Amino acid sequence: MFSPERQAIMQNKEIPYKIYLREDEIPRQWYNVRADMKNKPAPLVDPDTMKPITIEKLSTVFCRELAEQELDDTTPYIDIPEELISFYKMYRPAPLVRAYCLEKELGTPAHIYYKFEGNNTSGSHKLNSAIAQAYYAKKQGLKGVTTETGAGQWGTALSMACSYFGLDCKVFMVKVSYEQKPFRREVMRTYGASVTPSPSETTEVGRKILAEHPGTGGSLGCAISEAVEAAMRSGGEYRYVLGSVLNQVLLHQTIIGLETKAALDKYNVKPDIIIGCAGGGSNLGGLISPFMGEKLRGEADYRIIAVEPASCPSLTRGKYVYDFCDTGRICPMAKMYTLGSNFIPSSSHAGGLRYHGMSSVLSQLYDDKLMEAVSVEQTSVFAAAVQFARVEGILPAPESSHAIRVAIDEALKCKETGEEKTIVFGLTGTGYFDMFAYERFNNGEMSDYIPTDEEIAKYAATLPEQPKF
Ligand SMILES: *Cc1c(COP(=O)(O)O)cnc(C)c1O
Repeated sequence: MFSPERQAIMQNKEIPYKIYLREDEIPRQWYNVRADMKNKPAPLVDPDTMKPITIEKLSTVFCRELAEQELDDTTPYIDIPEELISFYKMYRPAPLVRAYCLEKELGTPAHIYYKFEGNNTSGSHKLNSAIAQAYYAKKQGLKGVTTETGAGQWGTALSMACSYFGLDCKVFMVKVSYEQKPFRREVMRTYGASVTPSPSETTEVGRKILAEHPGTGGSLGCAISEAVEAAMRSGGEYRYVLGSVLNQVLLHQTIIGLETKAALDKYNVKPDIIIGCAGGGSNLGGLISPFMGEKLRGEADYRIIAVEPASCPSLTRGKYVYDFCDTGRICPMAKMYTLGSNFIPSSSHAGGLRYHGMSSVLSQLYDDKLMEAVSVEQTSVFAAAVQFARVEGILPAPESSHAIRVAIDEALKCKETGEEKTIVFGLTGTGYFDMFAYERFNNGEMSDYIPTDEEIAKYAATLPEQPKF
């Protein structure tokens, strides 16, 4: 089934099962893909003036240096501070794995690689940006940061990052997750974060929601509102931080793509297809940035595929307009593919992908037809996760398994056509805290949910008035 050349490569293990870079090969700069985009992502808009937001105003929301990164559309490379490189060395470089076992299982001539970002205690790529955001907050002399967490990965990453820099970390965790994922909560507390189930009595908005809906399990939107309020009432000592969507987060995540490219370059491997799951777009944006840069500069061509859940299909069924990034409507407005900031996705087992919008960088690239998007249903995602776990050994996060699903589908197409395509996908994290989801799948109790056109239209009708400038 494999070509003789291919068999020789496999026998000689010319390309190892894992390509590791050396520590001194960790990228020293993040790559800002916006610098190479002809059509820049639309600017953030200040909802008070309905004009592009100024750096002064943005600096009241984010740390100064993060605000600068957020608005910088022109500097191609931005230095990674030395203190961050030291932290990255705890768990980076992350391996690029050649999925020989999965290839064999599928009987495909395709070459499959995955970049594994689950190799740290928080269990996902989110630590790459959490540590950068904590660093700049510390450098600016803040006492701490506040945030929300739903599935728990972001809160865990941020608590690890804050403990490293001695910052206070206040996490508002959606109450149902708080109760369903007690171990996530304890990991955060072990790293010194305070974790409050949301809605809570500690904020005005929390008390209001509790009075109106006693016994509610909470929502991400509500947890964001509480985290924002806690930061706003701190007298400037705390800032609210976000784990995805923003340009700065995507920038920090480019370490994923830069390492991936460096590892592939060592063996002269050029991917044909690059695949990643997309919630707010940070891991996908980070993975594809250096490859997209080549594509934008006309140096190479790649097929790039964003994979989203059918239950929360912002790229494939959303509108490309200005919308709020947060349900609390505190952050500036971003032009992005969105389902509407009050879109309530059905309960889904890929909590990290339940975001109403998409990074404005990825939205622009998608609108310019420089990348594709597909949506996949939950049960087929878990089928792929289980197939992958049994041969590759890693227990994947449900979010990451969206990318696995499409990587397997593409590899099976190669099996039909006999093409030896090279497929690279992002394996963003591990699924140890998602065993309720695996249990439902294993019991055959998992169902799929796809919003109807009426539901999509209902939320689209609530999109805010569009800025004109
Ligand atoms: C949060 C999360 C995602 C999705 O977030 P992006 O910003 O779209 O990358 C994907 N995988 C895992 C494991 C996550 O925790």
